[in-house]
Amino acid sequence: KPLQKPLRIPPWLRIKLPSNENFSCTSGLIDDLRLNTVCQSAKCPNKWECFSRNVATFLVMGSICTRNCAFCNIEPGDLAPLDPSEPGRVAEAARRLELKHVVITSVTRDDLDDGGSGHFAATIRAVRQVLPACTVEVLIPDFQGDESALGTVLDARPDVLNHNLETVPPLYGTIRPQANYRQSLAVLENAKRLAPAIPTKSGIMVGLGETDDQILAVLDDLAAIRCDIVTIGQYMQPSRRHPLVQRYVEPERFQWYAEEGKKRGIRRMHSAPLVRSSYNAAEFV
Ligand code: SF4
Ligand code: SF4
Repeated sequence: KPLQKPLRIPPWLRIKLPSNENFSCTSGLIDDLRLNTVCQSAKCPNKWECFSRNVATFLVMGSICTRNCAFCNIEPGDLAPLDPSEPGRVAEAARRLELKHVVITSVTRDDLDDGGSGHFAATIRAVRQVLPACTVEVLIPDFQGDESALGTVLDARPDVLNHNLETVPPLYGTIRPQANYRQSLAVLENAKRLAPAIPTKSGIMVGLGETDDQILAVLDDLAAIRCDIVTIGQYMQPSRRHPLVQRYVEPERFQWYAEEGKKRGIRRMHSAPLVRSSYNAAEFV
């Protein structure tokens, strides 16, 4: 098979450069408190914009993952024990950044008995204690389908429960090999059943080789389990070791996905090339 050449990055994905002093201030504060952010680990294209607006997504439980998803820039490797001071440091960062909405996510820790659900709950509670008016969104792993781990997170009453499907079912084998599409859907379905008042959220990337029909089928599935908020954004190759972008989807087509989602009854659709799971998340609570 001839070697595939990388596609040219289209103009709508050219990224704006850092523009104000908040950027270095946010980065400095995050380093100071020894925290990890997805913004940095995932080389998110919105980093300049979000940091300049004092928004960040905290990545808890270390920077090493037990899984190895093809699209992800986080490394597998030797795992460190959980740091019990981390929830307090996240809360302190949220306080210093004066956040109105905090997004907390983690690497996947299949090595831990509770999958890290207790650490998520402790982080939600720590933020609540320091910033009672701040809304908290958690972007959780699948906890290998463990319902009691999910229950632990929901008992801490996050304002949004997010779990990303990431891609369409036929691509799971290559893109998300240690995960299972049905199990991920079940996480969202169970969350809705266990805590109906907490909005559920999910997202996928496009450009990994999926077809539009497969995307519509995912929207059908998410609508069927009454997922409240769905994000769709363009996959971008974090490095040359990662899968090539198979297509750059035009902004108008993202708009169409949003309309299709709404037609199916999904309350909030956020679909555009630079949308990431946590991008402008504060607007969606
Ligand atoms: Fe961070 Fe999310 Fe903004 Fe990206 S979109 S920079 S991950 S807050
Ligand atoms: Fe990255 Fe999450 Fe996959 Fe781990 S489980 S490799 S953090 S996408």
